[in-house]
Amino acid sequence: MRLKLYSTLDKKITQLQPLHEKRVGLYACGFTVYDYTHIGHLRKYTMDDVLIRALRYGNQNLAEKIGVDLQSYEVTFVQNVTDVGHLASDADTGEDKLEKGAKKYGKSVWDIAHEFEAYFFKSMDLMGNLRPDVSCRATEHIQEQLDMVIELERKGYTYIIEGDGVYFDTSKFPEYGKMAGLDVSQQEEGARIGLVDGKRNPADFALWKFERPGENRAMVWPSPWHERSFPGWHIECSAMAMKYLGEQFDIHTGGIDHIPVHHTNEIAQAEATTGKKPFVRYWVHHNHLHINGEKMSKSLGNFFTIDDVLERGFHPMALRLLFLTAHYRSEMNFTWENLEGAQKAYEKLLKAVSMLEENSVLISQLGESAVTHVTAFFESIRNDLNTAQAVSVVWSVIKDSSVEDAEKKTILLEFDKILGLGLSTARETLEEIGKAQVTQIEEIPEEISQKVGQRELARKNKDFATSDKIRNELLKLGWSVEDTSVGPVTVKIKRP
Ligand SMILES: [Zn+2]
Repeated sequence: MRLKLYSTLDKKITQLQPLHEKRVGLYACGFTVYDYTHIGHLRKYTMDDVLIRALRYGNQNLAEKIGVDLQSYEVTFVQNVTDVGHLASDADTGEDKLEKGAKKYGKSVWDIAHEFEAYFFKSMDLMGNLRPDVSCRATEHIQEQLDMVIELERKGYTYIIEGDGVYFDTSKFPEYGKMAGLDVSQQEEGARIGLVDGKRNPADFALWKFERPGENRAMVWPSPWHERSFPGWHIECSAMAMKYLGEQFDIHTGGIDHIPVHHTNEIAQAEATTGKKPFVRYWVHHNHLHINGEKMSKSLGNFFTIDDVLERGFHPMALRLLFLTAHYRSEMNFTWENLEGAQKAYEKLLKAVSMLEENSVLISQLGESAVTHVTAFFESIRNDLNTAQAVSVVWSVIKDSSVEDAEKKTILLEFDKILGLGLSTARETLEEIGKAQVTQIEEIPEEISQKVGQRELARKNKDFATSDKIRNELLKLGWSVEDTSVGPVTVKIKRP
């Protein structure tokens, strides 16, 4: 459908005008495969998925009925896999992420990359996110990256720091930092990026890095400048995006943390290479997910993956529904209580849909009330993906007694082509959820029921520290305890 989108480049919402009338090229900064995909990533990629589904959505009959342009775009969705070790900081210093992951898990960098890529896609599939049309690994596009750096060198945008790497000279690109609103002249060395000896300007960044003596890196390639060298971490996205989408394309997505460095550098190196502006018209940036008001990190113990969600007995689509209730450009705070609420809402939604008659109606037969809801839904999505409002329309439809069941069925399934909540298989999912929780008392082993008893005693004594501790022990053993009005109910958690 024809969307109005916010672009960080011109900081306003405008009607999307793709370079080619019916086609959209979209590049999403992918995942660095050195550790587990966490729920912060899941939020970003789920909202990318909604954007792609919305662009692909088309329905001429409905468009005529509601007067909203619902012509579909042919979307080419490209997403990279960062499997070459870039450095742990945005600066061109620090430890290599892949090497760090390999050390941590006691495996080779190639194994780490392979396993965490598989985990990423498993997480995406569970969230119902469509696979990219092109999934490209950085290590399989070394030549393209190299060609780009050679071209930049030929055009005079680079310089070499001996024993360190090839750097982009930002003073030769006057528009550097425009999107991020950076005032480069005010930058002090080391203020934004780490100190690298020999850099001409603070914002200059590495295009290609050289292995240091004694470093013995696992991933190195020969280049015109050094026998054992590797790409800097920004070049891969520009090189691969251009290979699959052309020198200019329509939409580039990523997290807001990419605005000041990664995407700023992408614009500079890409536009300097081709001489064409803008490299990308719509820069779509996703805001952060916080956990209980804090930044997610392993040291805080609030680093959660899709497996943590499943092990606590939640359905991945409940998490998807939760994500949809916040705008992608807003910060979102995740708590397990919120997810519990979303799980209940999701089950309610499934029940409501599965209770509707099998019959549906033709779009042309929709009555006035139904049309009002449909208009509200698509206007919300069209307006820079206001998914929160769109979800509220879903509930209005369910509650509205002036809309017939058959009409409800038709329009809810139509909405779900964008929301991706799996409503067309509502009944099966309900059954599946029912099966996931086995509550027969006789199946609970002695060890578990003893712990449940101890926990109940602690709770009665208002010793919540102990009761929480036991609850966590139970969770680790694969059992969850729910406190209900009739006492604790012990539930075996379904393993993925
Ligand atoms: Zn990127």
